[in-house]
Amino acid sequence: PKFQSVGLVIGVTGIVGNSLAEILPLSDTPGGPWKVYGVSRRPRSVSFGSLNEGLAVEHIQCDVSDPDDAFAKLSPLTDVTHVFYVAWVNRIVEAENREVNSAMLRNVLAAVLPNAPNLQHICLQTGRKHYLGSFESIGKVKAHEPPFREDLPRLDCPNFYYDLEDILFEEVAKREGAVTWSIHRPTTIFGFSTCSLMNFVGSLCAYAAICRREGAPLKWPGSRVAWEGFSDASDADLIAEHHIWAAIDPYAKNEPFNCSNGDLFKWKHLWPLLAREFGVEWVGYEGEERRFKLVDAMKEKEGLWEEMVAEHALAPTRLEEVGNWWFVDAVLGVEEVHLDSMNKSKEHGFLGFRNTVSSFISWIDKMRAYRIVP
Ligand code: NDP
Repeated sequence: PKFQSVGLVIGVTGIVGNSLAEILPLSDTPGGPWKVYGVSRRPRSVSFGSLNEGLAVEHIQCDVSDPDDAFAKLSPLTDVTHVFYVAWVNRIVEAENREVNSAMLRNVLAAVLPNAPNLQHICLQTGRKHYLGSFESIGKVKAHEPPFREDLPRLDCPNFYYDLEDILFEEVAKREGAVTWSIHRPTTIFGFSTCSLMNFVGSLCAYAAICRREGAPLKWPGSRVAWEGFSDASDADLIAEHHIWAAIDPYAKNEPFNCSNGDLFKWKHLWPLLAREFGVEWVGYEGEERRFKLVDAMKEKEGLWEEMVAEHALAPTRLEEVGNWWFVDAVLGVEEVHLDSMNKSKEHGFLGFRNTVSSFISWIDKMRAYRIVP
């Protein structure tokens, strides 16, 4: 056959979906040549403009939270061999997150599992909140002691990640060993997408560009711990490689894996690099009384952003699409250092890594190349 494997990426315009869409079709990708279907509600062009039109992904516009739409659009894809589940929605209230995110995964599996006889493997992406608790419960429930290991027990609080795992286990069990699974738990993702609910680097770029436009210094909004302590990150291309490794490699089956770059960094070292990229002065941590939230500082900048888009002929975006301020506030406001261990991935044969400094700069460059920021 022309294709060795057929991937179905649920959430193809998201931050990791975009990396999967770029990497899977490459001629040297393990398990290839790959045919790729990519699912999202909005068309791909929203995120990528004309630059990516030639990309070898068959886009399927589908709302997987609607069982009928999911079944109508996904059940005909009988040649799918691998599912990459990198979608989610954020309803803020965890009870609602549980409901809607569970329904989405269930709808996808109900359409694909009975109708794709060659299905081999399902990759599910969750994240570090597996160890920290949901956004809602952070600070209220005692998180695990870092470094986080995959074999730590679940926290005693509701978390849609746990529900997604359980749905996956339950559905895969129906295929009696014919279909394997893997779970991928990244931390803060450095990647590229304007359709992402949590695009960290993109948000920082928008903040820095606004500072330059206003002639203001790039002020650190966050905590002393985040400024001075060790942090880690997950490069979106590395996560895509990790998914593909687990999809193909027999030693990666039926296991959860952390997925981070494998090095450490400090924000006090990345902040000056961000300032340099945008040609602005920077200000670091200045004490608790000088802390602020980007959610507040970036209020009422929509009009300014519109002007910047017009002046620099940027891709048409609204500031709320590019700047996920609540997420930046959460990550840069941490009061404890959170690190994971990549030992399990290495022990199972995944030796991939990223230099976080280079990763950071390369995603800033990509934001510019696609004219999302000036
Ligand atoms: P993104 O928010 O970047 O993208 C989500 C994707 O899902 C988009 O393509 C979106 O497109 C699609 N989608 C959402 N709802 C639907 C729907 N009803 N039907 C079809 N497609 C839909 O995803 P992430 O990669 O960030 O998130 C995946 C997982 O990774 C989540 O569990 C998240 O918590 C976790 N994670 C993310 C981190 C980050 O820094 N981003 C950090 C650690 C973990 P559209 O809206 O057009 O439908």
